[in-house]
Amino acid sequence: MSNFLPFTKPSIDEATIAAVADTLRSGWIASGPKVQEFEKQLSAYFGGRPVRTFNSGTCTMEIALRIAGIGPGDEVITTPISWVATANVILEVGATPVFADIDPATHNIDLDKVEAAITPKTRAIIPVYLAGLPLDMDRLYAIAQRRGLRVVEDAAQAIGSTWKGRRIGSFGDFVSFSFQANKNLTTSEGGCLVLNNLDEARLAEKYRLQGVTRSGFDGMEVDVLGGKFNMTDIAATIGLGQLPQLSAITARRHQLARHYFTTLGSEFEAQTGVQLPVADFECGGVASEMPGTHRPSPCGWSSNWHMFQIVLPEGIVRADFMEKMKARNIGCGVHYPSIHLFQLYRARGFHEGMFPIAERVGRQIVTLPLFPAMTEMDVERVCAAMCEILSK
Ligand SMILES: *Cc1c(COP(=O)(O)O)cnc(C)c1O
Repeated sequence: MSNFLPFTKPSIDEATIAAVADTLRSGWIASGPKVQEFEKQLSAYFGGRPVRTFNSGTCTMEIALRIAGIGPGDEVITTPISWVATANVILEVGATPVFADIDPATHNIDLDKVEAAITPKTRAIIPVYLAGLPLDMDRLYAIAQRRGLRVVEDAAQAIGSTWKGRRIGSFGDFVSFSFQANKNLTTSEGGCLVLNNLDEARLAEKYRLQGVTRSGFDGMEVDVLGGKFNMTDIAATIGLGQLPQLSAITARRHQLARHYFTTLGSEFEAQTGVQLPVADFECGGVASEMPGTHRPSPCGWSSNWHMFQIVLPEGIVRADFMEKMKARNIGCGVHYPSIHLFQLYRARGFHEGMFPIAERVGRQIVTLPLFPAMTEMDVERVCAAMCEILSK
């Protein structure tokens, strides 16, 4: 029987591993020159915008909300289909999370529903680019501008994704990325925040390390309440090794995603009732014609194919499907159950029936294996297993 195929696996090359060993021997293992160099290279990658690194992609969003002055009494609109961190950071700063249901095709927040959810207390929107697929960025920022709202983009999954040819992170308001182990670019744990100007960057540095500012040789002052969120040089060394490989990583993910569509064929959705992800191939990314008659790409979007996610039809119990895949040595993931149905959120008044699309997708979505070291044969094995299970 073939080896177990996980749904994801990081790609870290030997040169990066050797560089980490050098950093460990260098004497600088906490935040030092590697962090500064990584921030410099990230800033260049994001078109020169200021970038600061952190020890997670969660605290990046919390800090963005603090910089924007968002707190008790303020409402922040976000999606119910995300990693729970996206909503938790709103609670963390004392603000009120307001959910808006998702678009059934993209599984990203529905901008019509965002507009409908805006009240006089709304201060910000946190959109999420699920699996790396961006939103209609023109419309997102048109809404934010018209209603005077800040945007904290949860681009945790979207490094390498583009919108109308521009990298996510190279434009917009606050843009937050995660470098957690499963993400397309990893530092084991970590994250970065793209900011608008140096004043915001200086404030981000304060929130990152206990609110401390230093001046001169021994001057030190604390004027805001910060935390302990700095990235280490060990993590930054991994990031410096990953960054030059990002375009190859993204291209390989595109190839594998395309191979899923080709292998499953144009009749797969009609035959099984399974929903495949939105294909973005026609409009950027790796240009090449797509076989089959899958959903047309919304022009302008280019995903980094962080995940390849399907939605099972209502009649299939997800846990059974995953169990049967596991019996065939294939790992699947769940990203994610709808946040508003967790106890922490139910206790704040959320309940079933409020966001029906998110509830259905949260129950039926499955992440199939997709990572750069996978082979075309692995993709075919996943497709064959899936077809066999669904035809029974
Ligand atoms: C990974 C992730 C986060 C959190 O990032 P951490 O680095 O684990 O804190 C937030 N939002 C989304 C959508 C994510 O995928």
